[in-house]
Amino acid sequence: MRLLITCKQAHQMASEKLDRDLSIAERTRLKLHLSMCRGCTNFNGQMQLLRMAMRKISSDDGVPASTSDKEQS
Ligand SMILES: [Zn+2]
Repeated sequence: MRLLITCKQAHQMASEKLDRDLSIAERTRLKLHLSMCRGCTNFNGQMQLLRMAMRKISSDDGVPASTSDKEQS
């Protein structure tokens, strides 16, 4: 793999990063790409927000909620 990665590869790494630890080489490539690409920087941030939100929802499972937000579809 080259030092410069495509946006597609950056997206993939950004999502894999949330599931596993990237190697230093991978992290370096991702960081380098993010420093040059605004679109992927946004994508990366949204990914993390999404994951955090999903984690929060799943950790809230079984806990009685004061609202019925989950009933909405
Ligand atoms: Zn990009």
